[in-house]
Amino acid sequence: MRRWNGWGDNTVEYPLPSNGPEFLQKRVGVGAPPQDVSLEAVLASVPNSRLASHPLVNVDPKLRLCHAKGQSLPDWIALRSGRISAFPDGVAHPSSSTQVLDLVHFAEQNDSVVIPYGGGTSVVGHINPVTAEKPVLTINLRRLNQLSKFDEISQLATFGAGISGPELEAQLRALGFTLGHFPQSFELSTLGGWIATRSSGQQSLGYGRIEDLFKGGTLISPAGTLELLPHPASAAGPDLRQMILGSEGRLGIVTEATVRVSRLPEREEFHAIFFPNFDRGQTAVRQIVQARLSLSMLRLSTAVETNTTLALAGHERLIAMLEQLLVLRGVNDQKCMLLIGFTGCEDLVKATRKEAFSIARQHKGVHVGRQFGKQWHKGRFLTPYLRNTLWEQGYALDTLETAVPWSDVDDTIQAIEHALQSTLDPSEGRVHVFTHLSHMYPEGASIYTTYLFRLAQDPDQTLQHWHSFKTAASQAIVNQKGTISHQHGVGVDHAHYLEAEKGSLGTTVLRDVLGRFDPKGIMNPGKLLA
Ligand SMILES: Cc1cc2nc3c(=O)[nH]c(=O)nc-3n(C[C@H](O)[C@H](O)[C@H](O)COP(=O)(O)OP(=O)(O)OC[C@H]3O[C@@H](n4cnc5c(N)ncnc54)[C@H](O)[C@@H]3O)c2cc1C
Repeated sequence: MRRWNGWGDNTVEYPLPSNGPEFLQKRVGVGAPPQDVSLEAVLASVPNSRLASHPLVNVDPKLRLCHAKGQSLPDWIALRSGRISAFPDGVAHPSSSTQVLDLVHFAEQNDSVVIPYGGGTSVVGHINPVTAEKPVLTINLRRLNQLSKFDEISQLATFGAGISGPELEAQLRALGFTLGHFPQSFELSTLGGWIATRSSGQQSLGYGRIEDLFKGGTLISPAGTLELLPHPASAAGPDLRQMILGSEGRLGIVTEATVRVSRLPEREEFHAIFFPNFDRGQTAVRQIVQARLSLSMLRLSTAVETNTTLALAGHERLIAMLEQLLVLRGVNDQKCMLLIGFTGCEDLVKATRKEAFSIARQHKGVHVGRQFGKQWHKGRFLTPYLRNTLWEQGYALDTLETAVPWSDVDDTIQAIEHALQSTLDPSEGRVHVFTHLSHMYPEGASIYTTYLFRLAQDPDQTLQHWHSFKTAASQAIVNQKGTISHQHGVGVDHAHYLEAEKGSLGTTVLRDVLGRFDPKGIMNPGKLLA
C-alpha cells in the first residue's frame, strides 16, 4: 500500500549502511526525528466536503487526505505534522474521456475548482489545493491507463494519460518497444503528469525529454476539446503541443496522449568513470555530448557528491579497494564520478563506447568497469525511499535544479551551493550540499543540487528553514539567468520566479491563453502563474 505521509510502497525500506549515521552526524549533527502525527488525528481534522453530490465523486476523508499533498519537502512537513491547510472536497476517478468531460462541466456549473491528478509526485506544490474560497474537486486520472492504439510502422502508441511508468513500459515491452522515459519518480508518476510538467527522464540524452516524445493527444478544457494529430512535423503555424507541455493542469485535462516509441534496445550498459577533478570531468562530458555520440545517459557528480555517494553506498571494503586503485591512477580526494549509459544495437554501442572512453581518457578519466553502473541502474527507482529513512532519523532532504549554458555551469553551481551554505546562522544548524550535472545538451547542462539538514522539533521552524533555503537558491538561479526549473516545473513554489524568466509580455500572453481555455479560472488556480 502507498505511504500516506512519505514516498512509495510501505513494504519497501531503504536502510542506511552501518557507517551512514556517523557520516550524517559529522556533516550536519545528530538527527532527532520530531513526533509524527497519527493518521487518525489527521483524519479527524478533515473538514466536511463543500461539493455538491455527484455519482463519480467520493468524499471519503482518507481519500481526500491522500490527494491533499504531493512530495515536496513542505508537503512532507505538513503531512508528518498534521498542519494541512486545505484538502480537496472530493476525489473522482473517471474511467473515460466522457466522464472527465462530465466532471469538468459539473465543477464549472457548481463554481468549484478542478485539480487534475496523475501520480501526485509533484515536488513543487502542483496538486495541492491552495484556495479556501471554492470547493475543490481533484480528478485522479489513474483509471485512464490503457494502450488504445499502436502503430508499429510509425512507432507511435496512444495511451490513456493516467497510465503510470511501470504500466506503460510493461504494455510496450510486451510488444517489443519502450518509451524510454524514466524519471526517478517512474514508479508512481504518469504520462499525463510528465506532459503537464515537461518532465525529463534519466535517459533523455538517448530517448529525448517528454516534449520530444509527446506527439499529440486530447485535452478536455472548460472551453472545449482540443485534438492534436501526431504529425511528424508541421509548418502550420505555432505548435500547439508546446502549449499543453508544461500547462500544469491549468488549460484542461489531457485524457489521451500519443507518444513516439522505440524498439527495445539490443544492448544497454552503464559504466562508471572517475576523473581527478570536476573541471576535467566537465570538459570530457561537454566534448562527448558535443561530439553528438549516441549515448543514453551522462551524469557527472561533483567531488562532494561523489564522496557522499560512496560513503552511503555501503560495501565499505569494496569502496576502499576502489579508492586505493584510483589513488594509484592519480585520482585522489577531488575525484568526480561520471555515470555513462549506452543504449542501442550491439555495433553502435561498441563504437560509441570506444569513442566516449577515448575522450574520457584524454581528460585523465579512469574507467572502473560496469559494477557501479549496474548498481546504479538496479537501484535507480529505489533511491527516493532513502528520504523516508532520513526523515525517520531526523534529517530533511530536498533537491533543486536548473539548466544553463556550459559557459555558466561553474558559476551557477557555486552560486547555488554558496546560497544554501550561507542561509542558516551556525546556531540554527548546518547543511550538507552536493551537486551533479544530470542532463546534458550540446549547448549546456542541467544542474541538480541536493541539500540535507536536521529537522527541528517544531515543524514551523523546519518549514522556515526550507523557505530560507529555497528563496536563497531560487534567487541565485534567477541572478545567474538559469531557468527556474529544468524538469520539476513551476507549481506554487516557483511561480513567483516565472516572470523573471518569461518577461512581462510572456507571462501576460500565458495568462491570456489560460483565460481562453478556462474563462472562469476553475483549472488548478494558483499554479504556474502567481
Ligand atoms: C522522488 C522523486 C523523483 C523525481 N524525479 C523526477 C525526474 O527524474 N524527472 C522529472 O522530470 N521529474 C521528477 N520528479 C517530479 C515529478 O515526478 C514529475 O513532475 C512528474 O512528471 C509528475 O507526474 P505525476 O503523474 O505524479 O503528476 P502529478 O504530481 O499528479 O501532477 C503534476 C502536475 O501535472 C498536472 N497533471 C497531471 N496529470 C494531468 C493530466 N492528465 N492532464 C493535465 N494535467 C495533468 C497536475 O494538475 C499537476 O499540475 C520527481 C519527484 C519525486 C517525488
